[in-house]
Amino acid sequence: MLRILLAVLLLVVILLVLVVLAVALYVSFRYQPATNEADTPIPEPAPDVQGFTIYFIDVGQGDSTLIVDRSGASLLVDAGRSQQRIRDRLRGLGVKDLDAVAMTHPDADHIGGLPEVLELYPIERIYLNGGASDTQTFGELTAGIAAEAATVTTVARGDVIPLGGLQVQVLHPGALSDDSNEDSMVLLVSCGGVSLLLTGDAEAPSERAMLAAGVLRDVDVLKVGHHGSRTSTSPEFLVTVRPEVGVISAGVDNSYGHPHPEVVARLEAAKVQLWATDTTGADNTVTLTSDCRRYQFQPAAGQ
Ligand SMILES: [Zn+2]
Repeated sequence: MLRILLAVLLLVVILLVLVVLAVALYVSFRYQPATNEADTPIPEPAPDVQGFTIYFIDVGQGDSTLIVDRSGASLLVDAGRSQQRIRDRLRGLGVKDLDAVAMTHPDADHIGGLPEVLELYPIERIYLNGGASDTQTFGELTAGIAAEAATVTTVARGDVIPLGGLQVQVLHPGALSDDSNEDSMVLLVSCGGVSLLLTGDAEAPSERAMLAAGVLRDVDVLKVGHHGSRTSTSPEFLVTVRPEVGVISAGVDNSYGHPHPEVVARLEAAKVQLWATDTTGADNTVTLTSDCRRYQFQPAAGQ
């Protein structure tokens, strides 16, 4: 009898132990972390090979922006009005080679210097916004483009311009409106966490069109539209783009009153730090350098 009781007791104990083991196993399995992050070594970040420099070139009353990727790939967006001035500036920057040029729109203060640039450098790619003009300046540019052995592309919203490790997206125009300024090519340049918006002479209706198309976003740097004219940089545009820094390309004491005090006040109220390309008689080219994580501006002499 005692033997039977002992056997039953042993069986109960064994069963209990088994149940406890099963529960312990279940609990430990159930509450294991989803991934064993603590045990997986975090890979070293890739060697930092990204970076770029942007020169907001002092071309007086006009516009010219040179973008150079760390790989050496380069894009000149517009070339100001004066052939001599862009030649001097590019030589002053030590530019020996230029891969591509872009014309935001065919106004003389943006394309006047472009025929000289085509003369100076063997350009591989030319990007146009599709706008045309019956001016002599545009005629000279058209002849210069015809003489250049370059691939000529008319771009529109959604297109991408290859430039080394940089992303250059075309945000505007969607479709041409036949208004020269409003058809300005707008470019979003980005690399890693750093982004810039170059808006040419696009005005408030273009800004609204880009807002409606949902292509605008928070950027670090804005080249202020239309040389700081009151017709650009609308409050609703600024609220979306939220730049930390604004660069204004306008001639010192220009007859257009650029930049307009209203726009400057709006930018200052939004805590946008401002740089200007033409503040003295000297070369006031503004330089931005970036490693695609941070960026910094270098003041030109006299700023
Ligand atoms: Zn202009």
